[in-house]
Amino acid sequence: MIDPFGRHISYLRVSVTDRCDFRCVYCMAEDMSFLPKDELLSLEEMERLCKAFIRMGVTKLRLTGGEPLVRRNVMSLIEGLGQYLGNGLEELTLTTNGSQLAKHAQGLAQAGVRRINVSLDTLDEAKFARITRWGRLGQVRDGIAAAQAAGLAIKINMVALKGVNDDEFDTMLEWCGQEGLDLCLIETMPMGEVTHREETHLRLSDVRAELAARWTMLASDYATGGPARYVTVAQTGQRLGFITPFSHNFCESCNRVRLTCTGTLYMCLGQEDAVDLRKPLRASTDDAALEAAINRGIAAKPKGHDFDIRRVAVPRHMSVTGG
Ligand code: SAM
Ligand code: SF4
Repeated sequence: MIDPFGRHISYLRVSVTDRCDFRCVYCMAEDMSFLPKDELLSLEEMERLCKAFIRMGVTKLRLTGGEPLVRRNVMSLIEGLGQYLGNGLEELTLTTNGSQLAKHAQGLAQAGVRRINVSLDTLDEAKFARITRWGRLGQVRDGIAAAQAAGLAIKINMVALKGVNDDEFDTMLEWCGQEGLDLCLIETMPMGEVTHREETHLRLSDVRAELAARWTMLASDYATGGPARYVTVAQTGQRLGFITPFSHNFCESCNRVRLTCTGTLYMCLGQEDAVDLRKPLRASTDDAALEAAINRGIAAKPKGHDFDIRRVAVPRHMSVTGG
């Protein structure tokens, strides 16, 4: 699949649910309302959609959400998708808040998942509770330990928040070094209405310059096919990534599209361009109309986002499109 700007689309992110057991302040409102359950695609329908994408050239699948591991029976989808590894699919992975990992880490490894992203913005228990509103740090630390025991490679995603966790980058880098984890810092993006986003926004170009005074950052050509740009930290030997939608525009190399749990395909995180895949999926057991709809979507992929932290770029929260 090639979009109008010559970009090869080989990466599908699937939000398997918009629901979550946390309420991170930068992601959701505390009284977030979720989609009615009867609008959701079944797990079988999701698998059929993913299969169509794999046939059409997708080689990397990331399950996300909301919290992917709170969707009932999600492991059956993961096991089903694992069957395509080596058979069109090169990588099956997920982004998780880690709350349910202790239960599922072994099953993920058995299904063929090799590496996962775990979101963790702080190592301070009280601060963790404030950021996630509903989460407990111990639960996530246990999940990470279980994933390590299952042999999964882990990258920690840390959203950089001014006045909240900007005193913890060194601690997090040290801890990741000790634990053998990579770390990726993320700038907040203006998706969906939440409070205080603008005040806590931090430019990662400034953070990077500040970190470079204490840590030796070696150039790295490591790339995961995602938006992060990496260096290797000489002192720890681990990678440090930066996702910088503001200070560096990552759109020119975008290879991704995103599917919601209701079957809407969004072509860009920060734009409204979308096609409905649920209707053609349900209209026929033959995938011709579905494939035509996917092609229509790819042909309408916009050049990029135009994020401005002072205004909400799109009304949907990150948990709907899948971060
Ligand atoms: N619940 C899972 C988790 O937290 O990892 C998966 C979904 S979450 C939406 C995916 C990633 O998006 C997380 O790393 C989260 O920190 C990040 N995220 C959520 N809202 C964001 C925002 N407005 N700007 C930047 N990153 C955001
Ligand atoms: Fe849930 Fe992830 Fe959003 Fe936090 S960032 S509220 S864990 S979906």
